[in-house]
Amino acid sequence: MSAAAIIDGKEKARQLSLTIKDSTAQLKKDGIVPGLAVIIIGEDPASQVYVRNKKRTAEECGFYSVQHKLEESISEKEILDLIALLNQDDSIHGILVQLPLPKNLNEELITQSIDPKKDVDGFHYMNIGKLAAGDSENTFVPCTPAGCMLMIADHLGHDLSGMQATVIGRSNIVGKPMASLLLQANATITICHSRTKDLPSLLKNSDIVVAAVGMPEMIKGEWIKPGAVIIDVGINRVTNEEHGKTKSKLVGDVDFNEAVHFASAITPVPGGVGPMTIALLMYNTLNAAKKTVLR
Ligand code: NAD
Repeated sequence: MSAAAIIDGKEKARQLSLTIKDSTAQLKKDGIVPGLAVIIIGEDPASQVYVRNKKRTAEECGFYSVQHKLEESISEKEILDLIALLNQDDSIHGILVQLPLPKNLNEELITQSIDPKKDVDGFHYMNIGKLAAGDSENTFVPCTPAGCMLMIADHLGHDLSGMQATVIGRSNIVGKPMASLLLQANATITICHSRTKDLPSLLKNSDIVVAAVGMPEMIKGEWIKPGAVIIDVGINRVTNEEHGKTKSKLVGDVDFNEAVHFASAITPVPGGVGPMTIALLMYNTLNAAKKTVLR
């Protein structure tokens, strides 16, 4: 069997960012500069990297970009006050709070305090509700599933009629919105999660697999239907010993080296879904800014 096409998320994200940069330049002629505010609380090392990449990409796209780095000891009230100010700030079109939050903070309270019109992560219940109701045009679609859909469309087109898609993971950030988007594209959906029995047999007939679990290389090559398109959302840091030294690397939820021999196309980790997530955040922020022209 020939090896799968590798879906180059990094390159696709680069191209999307260039288009966003052009649109930003156009919007600036109307006197509008898309503004993105990112709030990060605490010192989680992975979150620090993600936030740095978001800021860098925002600047490359020509956005006004601000970062609020807050101490882990900050009170909920202070965070809510900051979000209230950003909600009122006309120079800011998109607000995001980097997750996960320190354990003492109420994630729901904080994410739901963002104005739905500035909720470029798509986590506000108003945006989630619109997406679930099938209105992905007039909402902010969460960035990771939106990026996955673009990569699926590259290989299978926008209409997935007659195809079986399996989403592994049912989080509000990835699994559930992913399933909504696939359903809107006419795929037949199975959602698997920690209580699902016999995952391998469910994958046997899946033309599309989106894995968002957070377990290194749990999905084995022989579980995959030959010719399936595999989107690996998982980001897992693993360590191994080499010549007496501890080395670490990132792997996905799919055993890439095995799956590549069964799939027709597959995203690598890193360099697949991750860069697309950031590009889609820019896309959502640009659209938030464009909507202020129409208001
Ligand atoms: P989560 O922990 O909120 O959800 C994990 C899901 O996996 C749950 O719904 C759970 O039921 C399911 N699960 C657990 N064990 C399972 C099993 N044995 N079989 C089937 N399902 C099982 O995680 P999340 O926020 O959705 O993220 C999932 C992964 O995706 C993580 O590795 C995360 O780092 C990564 N992620 C990547 C990006 C990106 O941009 N690439 C964005 C978001 C999340």
